Amino acid sequence: MTSPPLPASPAPSPQLARLLAGYRRFRATAWTPRRDRWAALREAQSPEVMVIACSDSRVDPAQVFDVDPGEIFVVRNVAAMVPPFETTPGHHGVSAALEFAVQVLKVREIIVLGHGMCGGCKAALTRELYGSKPGEGGFIADWIALLDEARAPVVAQYGTTGRAAERAMEQAGVCLSLKNLRSFPCVAAGEANGTLTLRGGFFAISDGVLHLLDETSGAFVPVG
Ligand SMILES: [Zn+2]
Repeated sequence: MTSPPLPASPAPSPQLARLLAGYRRFRATAWTPRRDRWAALREAQSPEVMVIACSDSRVDPAQVFDVDPGEIFVVRNVAAMVPPFETTPGHHGVSAALEFAVQVLKVREIIVLGHGMCGGCKAALTRELYGSKPGEGGFIADWIALLDEARAPVVAQYGTTGRAAERAMEQAGVCLSLKNLRSFPCVAAGEANGTLTLRGGFFAISDGVLHLLDETSGAFVPVG
């Protein structure tokens, strides 16, 4: 039995054409003039910072922090979540990346970066996808159920709709991810012996201001 032939590659769509134009700009203006910088990265990476951020297209950590390739090790997912340390069967993508960052790369800092107008946090608040089947919203519903623990006090204070409730949920999500990070033995040990620092952050494209969490007061403080 022979496999059916693969379809011919389609001509670039307008979307891909735009990306390829950007790639050519990058080659011409960023990559080629700085080949020495990239040569140092050819064999290995040694970023000192891990960033856990949302997949939202408006919050690219490399753009927000204006860093070069090689500087930050990034995991992005819906709502910038870190699940708790779990040993149940499954495909633990965030946990694998975290393990690699802490145990192999030995990053010194982990930043959880929440953001404004987060669709994942909003859906956690409204529970609009609850009961959906996998592939029809169920994967999202299951994933953002991680936020349920943080949701209850937010709903008690602000209800389930409106920007005040949404922002509180977005920021509570950062705090929950920090708590879950600390449930990983290697993270807790690193924090205890001073080799690893955890940090919560929040960025909204609407005002372009980065806030950092003061864990003592619970306040997100704008960066000057
Ligand atoms: Zn988001």
